[in-house]
Amino acid sequence: MRLDLREIIEVPGGSVPFETELDTGRLSFPSVKAYKSSPRAQGRVYNEAGVLHLEGRLTADMVCICDRCGAEFDSVKELPLEATIVEEESEEYPELYVLDGNEIDLDEILSTLFILDMDSKFLCREDCKGLCPKCGADLNEGDCGCRADPDPRLAVLEQLLDDTDQTN
Ligand SMILES: [Zn+2]
Ligand SMILES: [Zn+2]
Repeated sequence: MRLDLREIIEVPGGSVPFETELDTGRLSFPSVKAYKSSPRAQGRVYNEAGVLHLEGRLTADMVCICDRCGAEFDSVKELPLEATIVEEESEEYPELYVLDGNEIDLDEILSTLFILDMDSKFLCREDCKGLCPKCGADLNEGDCGCRADPDPRLAVLEQLLDDTDQTN
């Protein structure tokens, strides 16, 4: 969706509301299995003392895959939207969004904000214990009984101690 800002570009105090759904085609992440519905965004672009700001809120209802245990879990992401829109691109401030004529490409801006904010870790819960590296059991469901591999340095030490025991 493109948003026409003609009415407020030269009008400090003016604002243009928006409400839109994001196309999830560009929003694929390995840890997001599905979007339960298209992410929704609403907000406004307003002119404050001659500078255009975008503000609003984006909500995404997702089915995610835990990075540690592989379980699917539901996650609702709520993202506050904040961006500044300028008339000309500037190398000094690459985080600013640029007007295209009198319009902005709202989808582009919202998708970028969403991607930049995407969690780097997807966990079914904060303290997910993950899977046993030996048997693959889900350690959240209890101890599988496997013993952790002994530290090889400790094994050498134990061997030495055993030898000492035998000589005495
Ligand atoms: Zn997990
Ligand atoms: Zn195990």
